Amino acid sequence: MNRYSIHGIFLGTGTSQGVPVIGCNCTVCKSSDRRDNRMRTAFFLDVEGVHIVIDAGCDFRQQMLANGIISLDALLITHEHKDHMAGLDDIRPFNFMRHEAMPIFAEHRVVEAIKREFSYVFAEHPYPGAPMMNVQEIDEQPFEYMGIQIQPLRVRHLNLPILGYRIGQFAYITDASYIPPETMALLDGVECLVINALRFEKHYSHFCVSQAIEIIQTIKPKDAYLTHCSHSMGLYVDACKLLPEHVHLAYDGLRLELEK
Ligand SMILES: [Zn+2]
Ligand SMILES: [Zn+2]
Ligand SMILES: [Zn+2]
Repeated sequence: MNRYSIHGIFLGTGTSQGVPVIGCNCTVCKSSDRRDNRMRTAFFLDVEGVHIVIDAGCDFRQQMLANGIISLDALLITHEHKDHMAGLDDIRPFNFMRHEAMPIFAEHRVVEAIKREFSYVFAEHPYPGAPMMNVQEIDEQPFEYMGIQIQPLRVRHLNLPILGYRIGQFAYITDASYIPPETMALLDGVECLVINALRFEKHYSHFCVSQAIEIIQTIKPKDAYLTHCSHSMGLYVDACKLLPEHVHLAYDGLRLELEK
């Protein structure tokens, strides 16, 4: 695997409902610590000047604005759940700025879902001003985009096969509840691992904290970050105290710098 200099931003670190949850009065949802406010899970990568966002959920627009992201070369989609692709219509400003369609990489089933959910984009005569999507179908094979090597990572989200992504010494997995041995092998040598952990208690379709830590202890990255968290994770300051030293609880806006 190549090494890259990578600058990353956690755009969103929350589970599908986001945190705070509408109508919830728990201490996390009521917290004034901004690290307890979580938009839907997504990640920005600047890999040697190539700007990539992983997932475009309902909060995509706010995430671009909050982090001042004004240029984007591609989107990688992990799976078709709404918290990971409902915001795709908001790629329009990037279309207008660049006068071209946005490359969107996803596997076959997800491409079908994008074409179904955003059918107006793919109409023979799209409505003027409709988003322009250059949807590119990928599978589990590594591919190259603008000189950057991207390794898709097959994981399971309950029964749904979905993708994580490895770029150089960095890997990003969300919404997983199982990682098969072939994928564990592809994670060998990863120095920075982002992995989902919903809460401390077990859950049927997402890793909980102890399951994520078990994966981290097998892969042994220098640093690991937990994302896709629910309000049941508890307050940021309390949850952090319960994690091993090199395992960090991610929060919206947290930045990573990886040296080549
Ligand atoms: Zn999700
Ligand atoms: Zn709550
Ligand atoms: Zn999901």
